[in-house]
Amino acid sequence: MPEKLNDFSRLCIHTMTTKPWSLREAIDGYVAAGVPGITVWRQHLEPYGAREAGRMLRDSGLKVVSLCRGGFFPATGAAAREKARDDNRRAIDEAAAIGAPLVVLVCGSSPKQPLAVSRQQILDGIAAVLPHAKEAGVRLSIEPLHPMYADTRSAVNTLEQANNMVTAIGSDFLGVTVDVYHLWWDPMLEAEIKRAGRTILSFHVCDWRVPTRDLLNDRGMMGEGCIDIPKIRGWVEREGFKGPIEVEIFSDEFWAQEQTRLVRRIKNAYLQHV
Ligand code: ZN
Repeated sequence: MPEKLNDFSRLCIHTMTTKPWSLREAIDGYVAAGVPGITVWRQHLEPYGAREAGRMLRDSGLKVVSLCRGGFFPATGAAAREKARDDNRRAIDEAAAIGAPLVVLVCGSSPKQPLAVSRQQILDGIAAVLPHAKEAGVRLSIEPLHPMYADTRSAVNTLEQANNMVTAIGSDFLGVTVDVYHLWWDPMLEAEIKRAGRTILSFHVCDWRVPTRDLLNDRGMMGEGCIDIPKIRGWVEREGFKGPIEVEIFSDEFWAQEQTRLVRRIKNAYLQHV
């Protein structure tokens, strides 16, 4: 077991966790609650534009942990794949503009072709946009998604696959994101976290509700599900990861609630169950 968290210095919240809030409201809400870190989703950036959002974030004093999300590389046509790469280059530029050191990749998948083909297209796509990332000083991080999303969201479903891609490409600007929601079930998780070592660039937490009522928007608050979050945090920290702990919860239930109270609840759960 890792040491219990005793303050909020590493706490980061994803703007998707408080989805009903605009970026302005999220910034103000996190600052008021003493939450030091923010991961910005592109849909929250859009209404302001990256320049204006960057100014707001710098003025707030919040630490911008990452931009979510790039990826979605696979497609059956070459033109569509090129379009996806361009969109990733734009995401990298946006990350640079808001001071985010990292773009998290939800790699994508197409049900119209074999998974192996999608996986190759992901590898090729990452390799194609990496020079742009390097130039911008922004890292890319492969986030494996739970296999239930292998049809359309990501053909990268285990940390082993993500590690293999990082090894194949071999760049300081590429690493992995460990999200407990996607990876908690994997019997190889501890070994693959060890293998990832210093290439672990970010760490996402929430919980797995039992039963899960919706495959996308029913993630649980830390402590209300069956994931042993402290254990996984211990594995990640054993490899030297001491970065932000990012609360990323997609939940229709929580989005319907008053968001200031939700942030308070997140803070309590963070100290008790992370
Ligand atoms: Zn995540």
